[in-house]
Amino acid sequence: MAADRITVVGAGFAGLTALRTLRKHAPDAALTLVAPRAELHYLPGTIWLPAGKRNRADLVVPLENFLRRERIGFQHARATGLSADGRILHTDAGDVPNDGLVIASGARFLRKLPGIEHAIIPCEGVDAGEAIRDRLARLQGGTLCFGFGSNPNEPIAMRGGPVFEFVFGIDTLLRQQGRRDRFRLVFFSPSQKPGQRLGEKAVGMILTQMQRRGIDTVLGEKPQRFEADAVQLETTRIDADMIVFMPGLTGPAWLDDTALPRSPGGFVQGDAQCRVPGFACTFVAGDGGSYPGPDWLPKQAHQADLQAEVAARNLLRTLRGEPVDEAFIAELVCIIDTLGHGMLVTRKGNDGRALPPLRAMHWAKAWFEKRYLRRYR
Ligand SMILES: Cc1cc2nc3c(=O)[nH]c(=O)nc-3n(C[C@H](O)[C@H](O)[C@H](O)COP(=O)(O)OP(=O)(O)OC[C@H]3O[C@@H](n4cnc5c(N)ncnc54)[C@H](O)[C@@H]3O)c2cc1C
Repeated sequence: MAADRITVVGAGFAGLTALRTLRKHAPDAALTLVAPRAELHYLPGTIWLPAGKRNRADLVVPLENFLRRERIGFQHARATGLSADGRILHTDAGDVPNDGLVIASGARFLRKLPGIEHAIIPCEGVDAGEAIRDRLARLQGGTLCFGFGSNPNEPIAMRGGPVFEFVFGIDTLLRQQGRRDRFRLVFFSPSQKPGQRLGEKAVGMILTQMQRRGIDTVLGEKPQRFEADAVQLETTRIDADMIVFMPGLTGPAWLDDTALPRSPGGFVQGDAQCRVPGFACTFVAGDGGSYPGPDWLPKQAHQADLQAEVAARNLLRTLRGEPVDEAFIAELVCIIDTLGHGMLVTRKGNDGRALPPLRAMHWAKAWFEKRYLRRYR
């Protein structure tokens, strides 16, 4: 019997974890990765680019060694569509037939806010971290504004954690450089309780930290537009020498040319087993999917990994005609780094914890990054 041909779309956290899991449980499967670059971009480490604690080479991992070791074929391409009930993936470099498919092509951010081009968008990864670093180096003083938005059609599709990390990290950096007094730092949010998905305790801790550090907050007002030198909220206008803004998320554009079921916010609909309903042998994992779960279900690398493992195992079960009953666990784990310390926040089931800033957590985050990336080097 010919080996199963399994295609994974996307070389991020979910895609690579799916490939490792597939290879572990199906040594003979013919695995193909479809992605625009054979590189893993370690987005959580970009918060340390402005302080020079990381550079591009630390965070962009070439995947040639990993692909060779794991015997994975690489299709240097972007997915553009899907036909034959998911058995043919269309790409800008030709069609890729498959017996099973894992969609892990991440999320796209909404660029709808007028003047968004004036903001630096941390979702853009390494480029954005470098842009923040370079802008800070040029500025002699001024006002630095930080905020994040959501997707009005799917409010859960947002990511605030890294914005808190940038604001705390830049505050620490400016203090270390002895020039904090020349800058005003402002955090703005439409919510009175920003970062609520992290839990009540974490929100309280974050706002207390802002107060202690002299970071101004403007809460409860939606941003209306960005200008070259200002953030215009509903009533408040904030002068800005740098704007760092994380917009709400939606699904990648290529999904528009597929018949895949979509959630209100534009993501691929997945079920608790990461199956795409109505499409046999087609699974989704990571930020690009919308899944049943608690209202704090995170769009995070850790959650993407948990979903990818389940998607891969369930796909193999489907191909073998076995029952598919493994559901992914909803779990939020993050360390909100402040450059010297870190606040550990966890949620699972009804349990939620948040620890105050600890030096050990800063080092734990750095240690985790090193250990995580080793497997792809
Ligand atoms: C600044 C920042 C800090 C963060 N910090 C943390 C943190 O501390 N902890 C945490 O858990 N999470 C963190 N996150 C979130 C985390 O990075 C994401 O949740 C994670 O990257 C999601 O993984 P993914 O595989 O779903 O998507 P991605 O990592 O975005 O990967 C998507 C992949 O799909 C590829 N792709 C896109 N379109 C196509 C296409 N058409 N065809 C083929 N391939 C395509 C992309 O090139 C990429 O390889 C952070 C994010 C940012 C931006």
